[in-house]
Amino acid sequence: MPAKSVTIIGGGIGGFAAALALRQRGCDVRVLEQAEAISEVGAGLQISPNGLRVLEALGVGEALRAGACRGTAVSLRDHRAGREVLRLDLNRLPEGQSYHFVHRADLIALLSQAAREAGVQVRLLQKVAAVRPGAPVRIEMANGDSCSADLVIGADGLHSVVRSALNGVVAPFFTGQVAWRAVVPNLCGHPPEARVHMGPGRHVVSYPLRGGEKVNLVAVEERRQWTEEGWSQHDDAANLRTAFAGFGGDVAKLLAAVERPGLWGLFRHPVARHWHGQGVAILGDAAHPTLPFMAQGANMALEDAWALAACLTSGTDMDAALSRYQDLRRERCVKIVEAANGNAWKYHLSNPLVRGVAHMGIGMLGRLAPAKMLGQFDWIYGYDVTKAV
Ligand SMILES: Cc1cc2nc3c(=O)[nH]c(=O)nc-3n(C[C@H](O)[C@H](O)[C@H](O)COP(=O)(O)OP(=O)(O)OC[C@H]3O[C@@H](n4cnc5c(N)ncnc54)[C@H](O)[C@@H]3O)c2cc1C
Repeated sequence: MPAKSVTIIGGGIGGFAAALALRQRGCDVRVLEQAEAISEVGAGLQISPNGLRVLEALGVGEALRAGACRGTAVSLRDHRAGREVLRLDLNRLPEGQSYHFVHRADLIALLSQAAREAGVQVRLLQKVAAVRPGAPVRIEMANGDSCSADLVIGADGLHSVVRSALNGVVAPFFTGQVAWRAVVPNLCGHPPEARVHMGPGRHVVSYPLRGGEKVNLVAVEERRQWTEEGWSQHDDAANLRTAFAGFGGDVAKLLAAVERPGLWGLFRHPVARHWHGQGVAILGDAAHPTLPFMAQGANMALEDAWALAACLTSGTDMDAALSRYQDLRRERCVKIVEAANGNAWKYHLSNPLVRGVAHMGIGMLGRLAPAKMLGQFDWIYGYDVTKAV
């Protein structure tokens, strides 16, 4: 095994999944997380069959299923009265595949608990300022302290300092879209399906969480005005309601219950060119931040975590293991990120005539060839990273 002791920067989904996978393979692992607690942050996430396979292999699939809602369909709807335009029946997924909606905090809680129980050390309030690849790798903390490690994994998300150490600073560009997110009580008996409510220049995605008690809302609007990228900005709920005033049916009811929505600017980042350096690797959003339109951010992070742990523990040469990891992952992640980029405009047709025709077209396709509509996601959902290494 090329690395017996591993330091992971970032206690998010990818960080804890990698920690658990490496610990289960006999490594000593510590996680450095900047937050003061692993607490209730974020909103809903979608776990598709490819991500679930990793959770199953890590031994937490059962716990995930217990706390999540199993999705039965994806329903595309017109924004005014909520008329359904297209329905993808998730019960038609191939045998053994299922799709789940989960609160990000619940997924982190179950991964971090399993990691701790397996013997991973978790250190909170540890903000890393910079990483210098080498043998050993030098880690500089924001408080001025420093330490070293044989292998450092950057699972430090969107604004990764480890990605910058390997790739320099690459400026992302604003897509001209912002997204509000909120979790509200399930006031409309929202069934266990993801609903995409499509309007001109904007759409709302809703799905239930926590046994159907809550509903997760993500509302995307096209606009010129730039908004910061990140998970900690909030907005006045009145702005959200004004932007989506033309939406009827259940959406209006759910939006009325929003109190303090998160707001983030949607930016496009290139997938990192270099995923590893001497004694250093990156995974998840640190390597490939994505727009949310394929709901694959968490699933790709889970796949990366498994692949990296498997590569690192299946040979003796660290450089070879890290480059095998990049070879295995980069192309797939580029393809998924590009698919998410390409989806951005699809829900937002502004011209009512074009929108009507497009909706009719996809509705017909959905009725005539339902298996084909769902089959277009086979390359994502059917992939099993646990068998790929
Ligand atoms: C607070 C928060 C809320 C989110 N909410 C949502 C949501 O509602 N819906 C959604 O789809 N996605 C959300 N995401 C993003 C989603 O979790 C990721 O896109 C995806 O799961 C990939 O996971 P990741 O492990 O790569 O990154 P993340 O899950 O983002 O984890 C990165 C972790 O690294 C830590 N970190 C960052 N920089 C440093 C540093 N310098 N030193 C130490 N630690 C550091 C962060 O605190 C975080 O815990 C959220 C992310 C965060 C951080």
